[in-house]
Amino acid sequence: MATRVTSPLAEPLSTKVLGPAVALLEKELGITTVGDLLRHYPRRYGSWGQLTALSELPVGETVTILAEVRSVSKRAMKARRGTMLVAVVTDGTSDLELTFFSDRGPQRALVAGRRGMFSGTVGVYRDKRQLTHPTIELIDDDTDEDAALAKIDKPIVIYPASAKLTSARIAACMELQLAALPPLEDPLPADLLRRRSFLGIDEAFHKIHRPDDADDYTAARRRFRFEEAFVLQVALARRRLADGAQQATARVPSPGGLLAAFDERLPFTLTPGQETVGAEIAADLARTSPMHRLLQGEVGSGKTVVALRAMLACVDAGGQAALLAPTEVLAAQHYRAITTMLGDLAAGGMLGGDERGTRVVLLTGSLPAAVRKKAMLDAVSGDAGIVVGTHALLQEKVEFLDLGLVVVDEQHRFGVEQRDALRGKGRTVPHLLVMTATPIPRTVAMTVFGDLETSTLAELPAGRSPIATHVVPAAEKPGWYDRTWTRLREEIDAGHQGYVVCPRIGEGAGEGAAEDGAVPPPDDEGARRPMRGVLEVLEELRATPALAGLRVEMLHGRLPADERDATMRAFARGDVHVLVATTVIEVGVDVPNATAMVVLDADRFGVSQLHQLRGRVGRGSAAGLCLLVTDLEGPVPGRERLDAVARTLDGFELARVDLEQRREGDVLSSRQHGRSSLRLLRVLKDEVVIETARREATTLVTADPDLSGHPELALEIALLLDEEQEAYLERG
Ligand code: ADP
Ligand code: MG
Repeated sequence: MATRVTSPLAEPLSTKVLGPAVALLEKELGITTVGDLLRHYPRRYGSWGQLTALSELPVGETVTILAEVRSVSKRAMKARRGTMLVAVVTDGTSDLELTFFSDRGPQRALVAGRRGMFSGTVGVYRDKRQLTHPTIELIDDDTDEDAALAKIDKPIVIYPASAKLTSARIAACMELQLAALPPLEDPLPADLLRRRSFLGIDEAFHKIHRPDDADDYTAARRRFRFEEAFVLQVALARRRLADGAQQATARVPSPGGLLAAFDERLPFTLTPGQETVGAEIAADLARTSPMHRLLQGEVGSGKTVVALRAMLACVDAGGQAALLAPTEVLAAQHYRAITTMLGDLAAGGMLGGDERGTRVVLLTGSLPAAVRKKAMLDAVSGDAGIVVGTHALLQEKVEFLDLGLVVVDEQHRFGVEQRDALRGKGRTVPHLLVMTATPIPRTVAMTVFGDLETSTLAELPAGRSPIATHVVPAAEKPGWYDRTWTRLREEIDAGHQGYVVCPRIGEGAGEGAAEDGAVPPPDDEGARRPMRGVLEVLEELRATPALAGLRVEMLHGRLPADERDATMRAFARGDVHVLVATTVIEVGVDVPNATAMVVLDADRFGVSQLHQLRGRVGRGSAAGLCLLVTDLEGPVPGRERLDAVARTLDGFELARVDLEQRREGDVLSSRQHGRSSLRLLRVLKDEVVIETARREATTLVTADPDLSGHPELALEIALLLDEEQEAYLERG
């Protein structure tokens, strides 16, 4: 950042202003600075409504009454711990009960003789009307009733709160803090505020926390929502600008070279999508600023072919290419796929190889030392045009003669430090292509991966088999559960193979053993019967008559690596009919003869995960079958998620469903603790806001790259994006 300025927002909370609430705010909500507090926006706004006479309270409606407390009684509750508090209030003619299932909170202030306004929904209990947990606004004896009554016109501000720190307490803190706040410098430029009619920052803070009416908080929210988008987009625009200023080598393939030879032999024609994306990448590679491109496309959409063609173009131009995979299994699989596709083109410099060919080497941590050493020599001498590997590639010792292109597979498992470490290995900055099979909606890409251009392979190659997906409600219809195994048998009798996926490994393998990848869905109650485990299901299936005589094996992360490999190879050969596994098979495992996928306790998996799992079948010429077994009944979120997966094969549609069910903070960072720099902005819904912010940000950063003319904005970026988050943003 150019100029260091300080802001009152960065100051720690003061006990002089807030008293003992300072400690509570930190403990309960992690709020430590003035800015943290003021940006703890109300979750919603209620209204007091019109005053209603006690004698005519309509059941089921939200009312506000003015009444005096007549008596208060407490008693221990039977069904749960704690003390129940009942206050009888009166308007002089009729009585009403206010019921609280706790004697803590604002109801503590209810004593006989106090008057106040109470707002809540009218219920009936044992034929008597009552309000349960009404909002309480007591009228002090020394304030006049008119002033209190004037309050009923103002929105009630409701904050995200905790049992120990109530919304009302937070509102009181806010009032004190706002009163003590000096005028603030606005991080949004004055001309931007004017042009787009946004509230200034001081006015916006007052109106979001102490609104006089709905217009106030609507305008304030509009401003802060934009500010969130804008600050992010400025950070990203600066990153793009810095990247653009880096020097890369243009890689233009020589005609009649390796790429041309490869294209000649390709056993299929490229899809229109592959052609388009291929052209985009070729244009990027021909520039002297480094490519930063995100290639998204579903499993099987043909990303690997596109990436390989980019690598070949780079080799043709005299450079080297590296392909990074998140695991050894995947690296080995990429290596096999690439050498197979290249055929004798992968034996460059060797006897019998094509003279246009190059050498492809695998470089992973578990290779025997001698093999590793040879691979490293091939990389540094330039003999290897393509190096496929894992994190081992990032070790200091690995060097390249002229690294021109880095392809990263499955970006979400890769950190920015790793990416940058590898990019530091080139003479100039290598071009970067990131592949992801998890489709990312456009606005999310703009927000989270705003420093990358995106290319999308939207359609699957022709001739790909359809996958039929069905939800099996095992608890409702036990017969369907049995039918699952006869269906699996039918697939195997037709010469195919199947997977059975469980959410955990099971007893004996350590407890709570959800396998690495299993993402518990947000609504998981966790109170249902234990999840199905691989060990137990293996026993069950081996004893299931429908599967008699079949070879059923298991695969999970706690097995020794050699055992795992042996099982996987046996399955790939077709020697194993049914593989009972955890999500270890989620990414990249490719056995075209496997057509059936049964997921047990499917509701325990997220949408994207189920979609990835399903991508393991239907990879060959035969149609795929995916059965999602669940005990959930009725219209609960877990069931709806499964129905969505069964309804469509469109990964983008499913990514949207997935994101809508997650908290937005999880979209932006896996390491958030319930807090995020985005409080009001919704990355899925606020597309227009994000686009506008991006345009404004680009204009501003182009005119003032180091933000020297906008110190408040620079500070805001530093405040909002702590280093961890900034690293996440830059990830790609
Ligand atoms: P991804 O990496 O996106 O999962 P791959 O590149 O591995 O997809 O492609 C999946 C399979 O489809 C591979 O066997 C590949 O050879 C094949 N394939 C790729 N492109 C085409 C195409 N245009 N036509 C037919 N098959 C294709
Ligand atoms: Mg692939």
